[in-house]
Amino acid sequence: MTGDIASKLLKGKPLADRILADASRGVQELKARGIHPCLCSIEVGFDPASRYYLENQRRIAERVGIKYESRQLNENIYQEDMLKIIEEINLDPYIHGLIINLPLPQHLKVSEMQWKISSAKDVEGVTPHNMGALFLGAQGLKPCTALAITELIKSTGADLNGKEVVIIGRSNIVGKPVSILLLAENTTPTICHSYTSRMGKLESHVARADIVVAALGVPEFVKGSWIKEGAIVIDAGINEGENGKMVGDVEFEAAAARASYITPVPGGVGSVTTALLMKNTVDAVYMQQPG
Ligand code: NDP
Repeated sequence: MTGDIASKLLKGKPLADRILADASRGVQELKARGIHPCLCSIEVGFDPASRYYLENQRRIAERVGIKYESRQLNENIYQEDMLKIIEEINLDPYIHGLIINLPLPQHLKVSEMQWKISSAKDVEGVTPHNMGALFLGAQGLKPCTALAITELIKSTGADLNGKEVVIIGRSNIVGKPVSILLLAENTTPTICHSYTSRMGKLESHVARADIVVAALGVPEFVKGSWIKEGAIVIDAGINEGENGKMVGDVEFEAAAARASYITPVPGGVGSVTTALLMKNTVDAVYMQQPG
């Protein structure tokens, strides 16, 4: 990597460290009051990528003093039985946050499982209550990746008022919520998706963007030559490239040559997402306290 590119790198670690230091202070304060924050994750069957994230979450949780409990469920579990387990966790006063690791086996409906989570313990911000709060600009737990992308953009110090943002991907967990969060920052967001590409319009949208958020999950699909000079490029993609190397959704070197800031993959959005999961867990504990 050239020195020029290195100076444009928007790494996740410094921001993640600040968020974790805050979370850690919150945990200490809660422990002083006799409350030990606990995050629980449910894993159904075994998926190597999901297990990797889970172990990473455990390591970071323990670093800030949050207890991390994982429940491994049989891949053949019935929907009703899993819903009962979620209900039990909802009622457990010693568990403050709940994550359902994806993917789930085909026979389980992801939205039914996620929507069963108590909104107060929904540290990934996936329930209709928290999504609605996000839409309305009300207090709630926000989806961690969308929040990580927004915080990384804000950390550049750029004036966001009226800036053209092009978001590629319209998932409930990344693309849609990031558009709402960036709308609240006074930017002008456009959401692109697979039909934008099919109609041959993606390049022209990206080319006019002051800020590009790539969250489509297709390795190096966004070409560096499409990026406007001086744009901020946030790459949320996590894909396996050639030789098993992890790559993002953006053609990195070519995009970096034109961008003012660009997030690396790995080392960009992912670490901030995990840090915000810990912050959300601490926030969830405070929200669950009476009075
Ligand atoms: P989804 O698969 O749920 O959504 C992908 C979106 O990208 C869809 O809206 C789809 O459009 C769109 N898309 C797919 N192909 C194209 C294309 N060729 N051109 C334009 N749009 C396209 O993915 P997620 O939102 O869950 O994740 C997106 C990426 O972010 C993945 O690489 C994932 O691994 C990563 N990720 C990273 C996280 C982190 O912490 N760093 C956390 C979560 C996800 P359509 O709706 O039309 O099908």
